[in-house]
Parts: sequence; structure tokens; C-alpha cells
Amino acid sequence: MPQGRLFVVAGPSGAGKGTLIKELLSRYPQAWLSVSTTTRKPRSGEKHGVQYHFITEEEFRDMARGGAFLEWEEVHGNMYGTPLEMVKEKRSQGKDVILEIDVKGAGQVRSREPEAVAIFVQPPSIEILEERLRGRATEGEEELQERLSNALKESLEKDDFDYVVLNDDLDRAAHKLCAIYEMESPVVKAAKKENRR
Ligand code: ADP
Ligand code: 5GP
Repeated sequence: MPQGRLFVVAGPSGAGKGTLIKELLSRYPQAWLSVSTTTRKPRSGEKHGVQYHFITEEEFRDMARGGAFLEWEEVHGNMYGTPLEMVKEKRSQGKDVILEIDVKGAGQVRSREPEAVAIFVQPPSIEILEERLRGRATEGEEELQERLSNALKESLEKDDFDYVVLNDDLDRAAHKLCAIYEMESPVVKAAKKENRR
């Protein structure tokens, strides 16, 4: 059984990362979505250990100092980090690990793990991004404006990624993400080889 690969999916808030990853996970049992640690307060309906591990800033700083994160960043005023041990464990169990993280965190992962596959999810335009964020209705006006202004900066980084998935039509974008995953996953490749025997 090969070791799983790291897939980093980044892009502006509201670009559709979560929606596209959900599609990927529903099609490929070999893919596992990493649960990040954050100092952000849970939104209504969010559960500890499901969407995130919710901890205090002091706990976060202790963990960061102790080397518990593969990468960590401050995003929109809160701290977010990828737990290193869990990523290692899942990969050694033959799972491809999907990281849904911000663009700066993606840069850190790429420097530390150069064989990671970096995918940027691009919204069709800033106007459509705003529409989608308003439709999702998970942020207040101030937070929404911060996410829109960050989106412009983040989009400048997309050329550093291995792939850019334009999320205009959802089915088409999901198909593209799945095609990239199939092409780059050592676990899927090994399963296909096994099936051909
Ligand atoms: P992210 O995880 O990047 O912050 P989400 O996956 O939460 O973004 O998507 C933001 C909003 O846009 C959600 O309400 C989602 O249902 C919607 N959405 C995502 N992709 C599309 C698409 N291709 N067309 C229309 N709406 C979309
Ligand atoms: P939200 O608070 O809306 O769930 O996420 C805000 C932003 O934080 C998103 O862009 C998301 O991708 C990013 N994020 C979530 N987890 C991590 C992480 O572990 N590391 C980094 N660098 N960013 C993260």
C-alpha cells in the first residue's frame, strides 16, 4: 500500500473550496479531509472535532511552539493550523490528505513538503464571489468586506499553484478537481493497477 499524498486546496473565502471538496470526498474513500485547529469561535451548528478543533489562543500558541502544526497562519484575525501528527498518521494508513487552508498556509506546506499537490480554487469574478458569500450568510458585513479585500490579494498568488480550478459551473469544476486528484493520487493509481490484474 503506498503512502497517501498531500493535496492543498486554497483560494479566497467563498470561492467554493468546501463545496468542491465535499464532492471529492463523496466520490473517493481514499481521500481524507484534515480537521484544522483554530482560535475562531464556533459558528452555530459547528462541533468541536468536526469542522475544527476549537481552542484558546494560549493553547494554540503552546501547540505552535511545540511544533504540533504542519503549518499555521493568522487568517481574518484568527489563528488556524494543520495538526501534523494526524496528517502523518492518515498518510501512513494509505489515505490522501486534503488540506483546505489559506493561500499563505499553502505556501508553507509547499516549502516543507515539495511533493504536495497545490490546487487554487478561483471564483469567476469578485462580483460573483460577493454574491456567493452573501448567499452563504455566515459572516457579518465587516467580515465579508475583509474576505473580499483578501480575495484580491490571494488571487495574485494563484500562479504559484500546480493547478487552478475555475469554479464557475459547479459540476464542471468538481469534475476538474476529481480529474486532478485521480491523476496525482498514488493511492488511486495503485488501486487501478490492482484492478487490472
Ligand atoms: P469556501 O469553502 O471556499 O469558503 P463554499 O464552498 O462555502 O466556499 O462556497 C461559498 C458559497 O457559494 C456556498 O453557499 C456554496 O453553496 C456556493 N457555491 C459554491 N460553488 C458554487 C458554484 N459553482 N455556483 C454557485 N454557487 C456556488
Ligand atoms: P473559516 O473561518 O471561514 O472556516 O475559514 C477561514 C479561512 O481559514 C479559510 O480561508 C480557510 O481555508 C482557512 N483555514 C482553515 N484551516 C486552516 C489551517 O489549518 N491553516 C491555514 N493556514 N488556513 C486555514
